[in-house]
Amino acid sequence: AKYLGRDNIQFYSPSLTHQAMRRLNMETALRRALEAQEFYLVYQPQLDLSTGRILSVEALIRWAHPQQGMISPMEFIPLAESNGLIIPIGEWVLRTACREVAHWHARGHPLRVAVNLSPAQFRHGVLTDIVRDILQDTGLKAAHLEMEITESTLMDESATTLQTLRELHEMGLKISLDDFGTGYSSMSYLKRLPLHNLKVDRSFVSGLPHDTESLAIIKAIISLGESLGFTVTAEGVETLAQAEILKQQSCHALQGYYFSQPVSSDRILALLDKHKKN
Ligand code: C2E
Ligand code: CA
Ligand code: CA
Ligand code: CA
Repeated sequence: AKYLGRDNIQFYSPSLTHQAMRRLNMETALRRALEAQEFYLVYQPQLDLSTGRILSVEALIRWAHPQQGMISPMEFIPLAESNGLIIPIGEWVLRTACREVAHWHARGHPLRVAVNLSPAQFRHGVLTDIVRDILQDTGLKAAHLEMEITESTLMDESATTLQTLRELHEMGLKISLDDFGTGYSSMSYLKRLPLHNLKVDRSFVSGLPHDTESLAIIKAIISLGESLGFTVTAEGVETLAQAEILKQQSCHALQGYYFSQPVSSDRILALLDKHKKN
């Protein structure tokens, strides 16, 4: 009878059922994850290539599911974007990042923090108010907060999104274009919108130092950024050889496992204390 039961289940395309179930369960779990305090942030340093100092960190969300363990943001962020939960989750990320970084400031480390934002947070229309409130509550200055957006936010072109970008810029926030080089939109927005930084996508960095096409693309992005007045950050830098060639090409900043994985707020504080002494 046991074998029969198993065969029956096989008959109903098990992988599809399993996937659909997982998604459904995850959606339910995601709804209570905020309240259950299952999210936390890790931070990855961004290094100034000319001074070798940590100038900022990127905040990255983590979800410790009580039964399933760690679930990647690559899996749950798209789900949160599709069901609207990205609005409360995104606000939690902003608030937590600003609070933790304000704490580092009080300990003598005036770093900038970069937070990832989804297109829906811009379309929502109240992002400026939320940011203003969080800065006021945490005491962090606008100049110390950076927004990492992707081309999908810019392609949106809704009046609300564009106005929000301008308001944030006027408040003094930095705006960084993430995964640069992978999108499909035209580049005309580069001259129309208030941007400050281009983040070269990891897929180009991973080809360094030997792949000549990757190097050509990186050189072009750095020179484009330079002539438009943007700084350029390379992400996904994993080796010394990659760091050296980026420095040689006058890339401004790097981020990646070569220098540090994303780590807890406490680990960053320890790293900053150590860095300061040297
Ligand atoms: P992203 O914004 O492009 O973030 C960089 C990702 O690359 C992070 O993955 C980071 O851990 C990883 N990474 C950093 N250095 C290296 C390296 O040297 N080599 C390799 N192979 N990977 C490296 P993570 O933390 O899993 O995040 C994945 C994506 O999830 C992010 O990509 C971002 O799109 C999204 N995400 C993460 N946190 C948030 C958040 O708070 N809000 C939103 N809206 N999206 C988030
Ligand atoms: Ca990012
Ligand atoms: Ca408040
Ligand atoms: Ca990226």
